[in-house]
Amino acid sequence: MAGALLTLNAGSSSIKFAIFQVEGSGDPQAVARGKIEGIGTAPHLIARAANGAVLTEKRWEDGADLSHEAFLGDLLDWVDTHVDGDRLIGVGNRVVHGGRDFFAPVAIDDTVLDRLDALCPLAPLHQPHSLHAIRAVRAARPSLRQVACFDTAFHHEQPAVATRFALPRALEEEGVRRYGFHGLSYEYVAGRLAELDPPLAAGRVIAAHLGNGASLCAMHGGRSIDTTMGFTALDGLMMGTRCGTIDPGVIFYLMRQHGLSADAVEHLLYDRSGLLGVSGVSSDMRALLDSDDPRSAEAIDLFTYRIARESGALVASLGGVDGVVFTAGIGENATEVRARVCARLGWLGVVLDEQANERGEPVISTPESRVTVRVIPTDEEAMIAIHARDVVGSAAR
Ligand code: AMP
Repeated sequence: MAGALLTLNAGSSSIKFAIFQVEGSGDPQAVARGKIEGIGTAPHLIARAANGAVLTEKRWEDGADLSHEAFLGDLLDWVDTHVDGDRLIGVGNRVVHGGRDFFAPVAIDDTVLDRLDALCPLAPLHQPHSLHAIRAVRAARPSLRQVACFDTAFHHEQPAVATRFALPRALEEEGVRRYGFHGLSYEYVAGRLAELDPPLAAGRVIAAHLGNGASLCAMHGGRSIDTTMGFTALDGLMMGTRCGTIDPGVIFYLMRQHGLSADAVEHLLYDRSGLLGVSGVSSDMRALLDSDDPRSAEAIDLFTYRIARESGALVASLGGVDGVVFTAGIGENATEVRARVCARLGWLGVVLDEQANERGEPVISTPESRVTVRVIPTDEEAMIAIHARDVVGSAAR
């Protein structure tokens, strides 16, 4: 099979995309990556070639009212001119929630779209945007094959004890359970770890996806057995603007004492909390590391404390730990955060090689460390492209 694949990752105000070339059964190769940001305010598109050179950049004057449809139409036209004579053979879409039924990438048709619509109440802030993008591409190019790749799928095989809430059973049957997210990132990292360090990949590993959204995944033999995000992407670690795990009693307090509506509480916990809420300065780790404000230092301290605390829980789920892998914006780049997390995990036998950490080497633990610590850059787009190639390829056979 040969041709080009487009990957889409649509959020409320941004669409991340990439173009991959597919040649036979080899891994799809990224030839361009880009982002449309500021949808709803001041839209801006930028796309870069694999070597970082800017391929195109566009600002839409008076574009605040433009919808995802308008941008995707423009993007598809641009993709056609940049696939180097290849044919666009499909679009791979990141879809946040696959619910209980979708635990593998799937070709999208009307029935699948209806079933994905029905999952919107499980991820009301995320799912509608992916579906919006899928519909916009269908409207612009009805015959183009589209594939949905789920952020929940990697966690599907977790044991029931890891996914169950201590709530009445009827709620579990309705779908109120822990699902876990960042699955495309963890699947990619698990695959890379298997290439880089097969013995470690076969063992017990905690992968830490630390970006604006943040979570941990306990993997045994490359499979997810537990994770810190649960029913929604609000659970678990402290994040850029999300609170992570809190006592649910806080929500009743906010509603009763502050008179907040469900929407207002949702906004507070998703958009005003986390690093931003505690520091009062920024949700961005780089800005906090550069800040002299003591509240920024407290926010970073809480961030690393929570990672260590949740890691302890996952070590219990795994029955021990052989490796820790850092990934995503903070995990891949924030030397200081990695050092502080490793210091907090010293009781597990983690010994950081400070120079390797400073230099950003792939292995940042010392040879004597009982736990191997690695940094593996994630690539959710590559994972989507691999899945899209497989689904489009099998449909073509
Ligand atoms: P992501 O969501 O994976 O794009 O990660 C975004 C987060 O990574 C933000 O908090 C950034 O501040 C952080 N980040 C990116 N680069 C660096 C860096 N060089 N040092 C510290 N934090 C970084």
